Amino acid sequence: MPKKRTAILWIRNDFRLHENPALTEAASFDELIPVYIWDEGNSNPWRPGEASKWWLHQTLKIFQKRLAELGSDLILLKGSPHEQLLHIAKKSGATAILWNCSYDPSESNIVKAVQKALHLKVDLQWFQGNILCSPEELCKKDGSPYLVYTPFWRNFLAKYSVTAATKSKKLPPLPKEFRAIEFCVEDLNLLSHLSWHEAFHKYWKPGEEEALKKVRNFFKKNLNKYDSYRNLPDTEGTSMLSPHFHFGEIHPQQVLRMIADEYGDLKKIRDPNIIQFMKEILWREFSYHLLQHFPKTPNQPLKEVYKDFPWKKNEKLFTAWTKGETGYPIVDAGMRQLWNTGWMHNRVRMITASFLIKHLGISWQEGAKWFWDTLVDADLANNTQGWQWTAGCGADAAPFFRIFNPIMQSEKFDPDGNYVAFWCPELKNLPPKWIYRPWQAPAKELAKACIILGVDYPHPVVDHRVARDKALWNYEWMRARQGSKARK
Ligand SMILES: Cc1cc2nc3c(=O)[nH]c(=O)nc-3n(C[C@H](O)[C@H](O)[C@H](O)COP(=O)(O)OP(=O)(O)OC[C@H]3O[C@@H](n4cnc5c(N)ncnc54)[C@H](O)[C@@H]3O)c2cc1C
Repeated sequence: MPKKRTAILWIRNDFRLHENPALTEAASFDELIPVYIWDEGNSNPWRPGEASKWWLHQTLKIFQKRLAELGSDLILLKGSPHEQLLHIAKKSGATAILWNCSYDPSESNIVKAVQKALHLKVDLQWFQGNILCSPEELCKKDGSPYLVYTPFWRNFLAKYSVTAATKSKKLPPLPKEFRAIEFCVEDLNLLSHLSWHEAFHKYWKPGEEEALKKVRNFFKKNLNKYDSYRNLPDTEGTSMLSPHFHFGEIHPQQVLRMIADEYGDLKKIRDPNIIQFMKEILWREFSYHLLQHFPKTPNQPLKEVYKDFPWKKNEKLFTAWTKGETGYPIVDAGMRQLWNTGWMHNRVRMITASFLIKHLGISWQEGAKWFWDTLVDADLANNTQGWQWTAGCGADAAPFFRIFNPIMQSEKFDPDGNYVAFWCPELKNLPPKWIYRPWQAPAKELAKACIILGVDYPHPVVDHRVARDKALWNYEWMRARQGSKARK
């Protein structure tokens, strides 16, 4: 009898059956061992944060069930990937290990260790993960990376064509020696001992089926008004797909295919709502492109001049920001939305990030770390790009001197004050005119709304004008320092 062909399917960040090239390839073996390895000793500062671990816990459970429905299972292990893979390969006699790439900069070290430990023993095969084009594929003519978004998007659109859908319907069985063992997600101890994340169940349903349902719903109800509503945080103006994309529960290719099925050739679409939605999905690709080409950017500014920026350490102000107690209602509403739901609207991410960086003078890296721990969609590529963009030090970034005025931003994007009233209910009885600036409200209005400033809601932690001037001063100081360095 010919020897059975056994493979290991190493699950990284692709918790879906559709559009999963490693899984599709793995289906052709006689026996298959799908495995997820939680690298708990990993010293990477960007290992999943607390909110991400909550999502991971849920999605692992769901994915394990999905694989069981196809005749397989998900083996759950703790430890370093190369050691665990070597151990399973030896135990099972597997001749191949297949996986989809994750694009984290620590990936190359992990993969190098796997290659070193296993390449002589088994065939290693890796496939494209949950991005549309590999970061090397989409470069400028001279091979250098894009630093500006619009040509990146144009080049993508010119080159991209929608591919046929794939989905595995049946998987090979586990080898006998693995069948009797029960693997429980709980044993990975992913959930924080704080009960904080329990509320996330109210807002989120992880998993591939939920992601697909969400896209269909979004297409039916909101896509046709995306361009006008996407900036309004109190509406359901955006898809809220970001954690599903991050965990690979849905592939952006599936979303573009759905658009093509409904609206035809992507290159010929003229509807600004659909174009804008595709552009946002491509911002994600742009972030991955940048992270691959500039792997140090999670910790260092892309524009080197910003290394000299005179950031301030201030525990008290930072804590006020994290707790949503800065006295600026739109900032506080955003930070409370984040803490309560594990997510924040994109417009408000920009406002809160800008406030930390420019009004409080605290470094974008500190803010990025807080987001990293508290966002269910925390994504190293998007988070890095979002913070560097806001700080002015990233690719195609907003200039530093464009300082968001939190009051004007509120008036423009939350004109009725609904978003602020929802997340800062102590202010809900103030009329829209004062809800964004309670410190300027006449005593009569405050009394009518039953608010004592400093008791029911904080006084502003900084004065907008003073903070703005200080930020601009710091910026000019940094530039002058660069100039004097260049002259030396
Ligand atoms: C300071 C800051 C930090 C951020 N951190 C993250 C993060 O950790 N993870 C994350 O996924 N996004 C991050 N973003 C980008 C953006 O805020 C979220 O992707 C978006 O709010 C998710 O909501 P949605 O799914 O409803 O988006 P939609 O508007 O429905 O967009 C669809 C998808 O496109 C992608 N997308 C949308 N906007 C952006 C953008 N500006 N940059 C990159 N991709 C985008 C996302 O994958 C999103 O799910 C950050 C932005 C800022 C300003």
